[in-house]
Amino acid sequence: MGHLTLRSGDALPAFGLGTWLSEPGEVYQAVRRALELGYRHIDCAWIYQNEAEIGKALEDAMAAGDVKREALWVTSKLWNDAHAPEHVRPALAGTLKDLRLEYIDLYLVHWPVAHRHGVARPRESSDFLPLEQMPLEKTWGAMVELEQTDLVRNVGVSNHSLTKIDQITRAVGTRPAVNQVEMHPFHQQRELLAGCKSRDVVVTAYSPLGSRGRPEGMKRDDEVPLLEQPALAEVAAELDATPGQVLIAWALARGTAVIPKSTNADRIAQNLRGSEIELTPRQVGRLDELERGERYVTGDFWCPPGSPYTLASLWG
Ligand code: NAP
Repeated sequence: MGHLTLRSGDALPAFGLGTWLSEPGEVYQAVRRALELGYRHIDCAWIYQNEAEIGKALEDAMAAGDVKREALWVTSKLWNDAHAPEHVRPALAGTLKDLRLEYIDLYLVHWPVAHRHGVARPRESSDFLPLEQMPLEKTWGAMVELEQTDLVRNVGVSNHSLTKIDQITRAVGTRPAVNQVEMHPFHQQRELLAGCKSRDVVVTAYSPLGSRGRPEGMKRDDEVPLLEQPALAEVAAELDATPGQVLIAWALARGTAVIPKSTNADRIAQNLRGSEIELTPRQVGRLDELERGERYVTGDFWCPPGSPYTLASLWG
């Protein structure tokens, strides 16, 4: 399996398992199955509300000898209500306890959005804290301090623009090791990818298969399903592969890490095989032509009327 080298020298396995919306009662088996098959990177987050079940799966997999801790990469993410520096370490402690781990390999600031402490999902505009009140630099400073402990090996961000990466890097003097963002042929973010590469920030591509399983309320009526694109079917037929496998191979060919989610045993195996496929430059180019500038995870849920966040401020 390929790796991407972070600024610490650590090797991030380029292919991993996503766990957003991996249901309680299903995620245990999904993680066990993935680790048995050879997955070595599990992408988690406090807000997915399934870290305790994942922790049990990690513990049992290690006890069964499926994987050793040092061969395993676990990422988690700081939620929006714990951005105040004094809340960062306790939030990590909760995640470590749930995951039954002494350390995690990577801890990310999940969104450049702050909530009042204790508010997991804002219901009214006063649940949000504007960045002027809870600056990203302060949160990032507390994250970087974690790297000096034995609790976290690397720290990074998610859903951050180049402008925000530069802002926090300048203020704290340390750049994020990773930026985890949405990337697939419909939303390639070429400028962001090139900018991260030139800054030596490794990119992890989320929702690489088009995130079909996300809640109906997050979908548009006129949404075009990525997995059903004819160009994808053509490339898949050439390779005797599935469209999902081609999307995984495309993400890896661009030099990003990629974390498709599945709780289905067959698709977990299928996706791993996708990480072994190499596309030709022509096949990569065929998928590059699909750019539509369209996000599936739009971020509009952070921007209801009265919120201090707008789509322009969120992604800018
Ligand atoms: P995704 O991986 O693009 O798609 C997952 C959906 O595709 C599920 O419904 C899954 O269903 C299905 N699927 C899996 N393999 C398939 C295949 N080979 N063929 C067809 N369908 C397949 O979506 P995602 O969950 O949005 O993104 C992946 C991961 O990225 C997340 O789980 C999470 O870890 C991370 N993420 C991070 C952020 C962030 O803000 N940092 C945001 C979104 C996602 P089954 O489970 O039934 O197979």
